Amino acid sequence: MSASDAKHIVRHGHLLTPADRVARLGQKGRVLWFTGLSGSGKSTIAMALEAALIDSGKTAFVLDGDNVRHGLCADLGFSQSDRSENIRRIGHVCSLMADAGVIVLAAFVSPTRAMRGVAREIVGESRFDEIHVATSLAVCEARDPKGLYVKARRGEISEFTGVSAPYEAPLDPLFAIDTATWSVERTVAALLEHLTTVSDLRP
Ligand code: ADP
Repeated sequence: MSASDAKHIVRHGHLLTPADRVARLGQKGRVLWFTGLSGSGKSTIAMALEAALIDSGKTAFVLDGDNVRHGLCADLGFSQSDRSENIRRIGHVCSLMADAGVIVLAAFVSPTRAMRGVAREIVGESRFDEIHVATSLAVCEARDPKGLYVKARRGEISEFTGVSAPYEAPLDPLFAIDTATWSVERTVAALLEHLTTVSDLRP
């Protein structure tokens, strides 16, 4: 779209204010951004938390790396610029879902602080929290649930995070979880406890 086309686009306002929406839905949309190495447990934890939140009457939805790469981001690879574009698009999807009042559980390797910073900026600081699934490379590689580490070590996958591409841990995550010592159940219970008693998720 050219710049001259863009200037004719005018946002359409909602009848409900964000505060009206929170009051009527009984929850505030927000994004919990799970970051960590492949196989660290992001999707496993996010899916279990999604089910637990829904069981407690909340509306939650997992956005998962592999799932968006089948559709929204099917045209993107794993170069640094494609990874950044992947995260930018996901950031906007997260933001729209949070606007709709959904608790979004975003599970993406998102290896650099800059990429996660872009997502945070798009979503908005006040409704974005990072959860570092801080399982060690050795444990992730021993699990290798999709056989990707074996392929990366053989050189069949290039720019694989932790093996041939860097991972930068978050400096100030809401939670850091080492799944070698924390079970899925314990992790979900701790996150739920936080969300329902400490954060502004309560209506
Ligand atoms: P990611 O989404 O980070 O790539 P996955 O959730 O797809 O990781 O895979 C993590 C693997 O580790 C799964 O096979 C899961 O069953 C296993 N696993 C073992 N213990 C845990 C735990 N405590 N928390 C999360 N996953 C665990």
